[in-house]
Amino acid sequence: MYVEKKKLAKEQSVIQRSSLLSSVVDNATKITGMNFSDVSWFRNSSEPAKYNAHSYATGGNEIHTSSGRDNDLFHEVGHLKAQKENRVSSTGTISGRAVNDNPALEAEADNIGNKIKQSI
Ligand SMILES: [Zn+2]
Repeated sequence: MYVEKKKLAKEQSVIQRSSLLSSVVDNATKITGMNFSDVSWFRNSSEPAKYNAHSYATGGNEIHTSSGRDNDLFHEVGHLKAQKENRVSSTGTISGRAVNDNPALEAEADNIGNKIKQSI
């Protein structure tokens, strides 16, 4: 899922640096040929629940996963490819922010995410 990027309050900006993120970023780069080194992972984020989601990706470089949803990292990195290619427009608005849950983009994110997962 995509949710329009917003500037977060400082206390919300808990960026997780982890070996899992490093592996996912490295493999995403190998699989897509694109650079994902700028990706930030907001783990245990309270943001997705505001948009009726478990997780989402935004701005081509930011992933939010709610508590217990670490495995969504793979799928959400898959979404960043389309975002980096500027292929994501809004399909609606939730809580004042543009969102996109287009089925074709969801399938693409699943496909890339599964490839990354298998390569780790
Ligand atoms: Zn998705």
